[in-house]
Amino acid sequence: MLLTVEKLSKKYKEHVAVKELTLNIEHNQCVALLGPNGSGKTTTLNMLSGLLTPTSGKIVFQGGTTINRQDIGFLPQYPAFFSWMTAIEYLQFAGKLSNLSKRELQNKSNEMLSFVGLEEAKNKRIGGFSGGMKQRLGLAQAMLHDPKLLILDEPVSALDPTGRRDVLNIMMELKKKMAILFSTHVLHDAEQVCDHIIMLKEGTVKWAGSLDSLRKRKIEETFILSTEEKLEDWIKSKEYVKEYLLTSPTSAEIKL
Ligand code: ADP
Repeated sequence: MLLTVEKLSKKYKEHVAVKELTLNIEHNQCVALLGPNGSGKTTTLNMLSGLLTPTSGKIVFQGGTTINRQDIGFLPQYPAFFSWMTAIEYLQFAGKLSNLSKRELQNKSNEMLSFVGLEEAKNKRIGGFSGGMKQRLGLAQAMLHDPKLLILDEPVSALDPTGRRDVLNIMMELKKKMAILFSTHVLHDAEQVCDHIIMLKEGTVKWAGSLDSLRKRKIEETFILSTEEKLEDWIKSKEYVKEYLLTSPTSAEIKL
């Protein structure tokens, strides 16, 4: 197991933003953290990337309790870009936090810019970039040091359809190389890239499992309904999943 999280909680004063969250991520697994606004996605990802100290709970990364920053690549929801820098200057700047030598950083920056399709824009100022280009540059920065786990906070939520498609395509390529945990409030984005989904609501996991099991859920549960209790559970879960479907009309194949 690459990452194990046990009963992780975060309180902001009296407000419990994340409540006893438990999750596992295997090597090279792609997991989507799906939840509406305010459900605790950013708080969770910030704790996993080491930006925020948990109130309680355990994070075990590769068997150890300390997370080595070098093993994690992080793209925050609102990355800070300096608009006057060029793309290559930005990577050289951000890469100073890694252990790469100057020469390695130069090579790696060029490699990553071409990986995210920004080779031709590498000497252009970030101020002139579209939202999609900025996110692609953010991805390049997060991958500079070859992390084992990439943590991406709402990487496509603010993008237009073209930017969204470009970034999701890059994520499809990336998941062949490393584990990815990314947050979104749109099921359609989650199901395009990931095979495992964790649904968060009000700081707790409401459902977790594979995309296949989410799709099969209706068929199985229609047949096993026998007691009132099960019916109630089913209705609850159905309503829950529907909330997400409403935000992603293209997900018509999952009809619960
Ligand atoms: P999401 O990323 O799913 O939108 P967040 O993790 O940002 O959710 O927020 C979860 C809850 O914690 C929300 O109710 C939010 O208002 C609250 N919250 C987030 N950050 C802070 C903070 N710095 N101080 C107080 N409350 C916060």
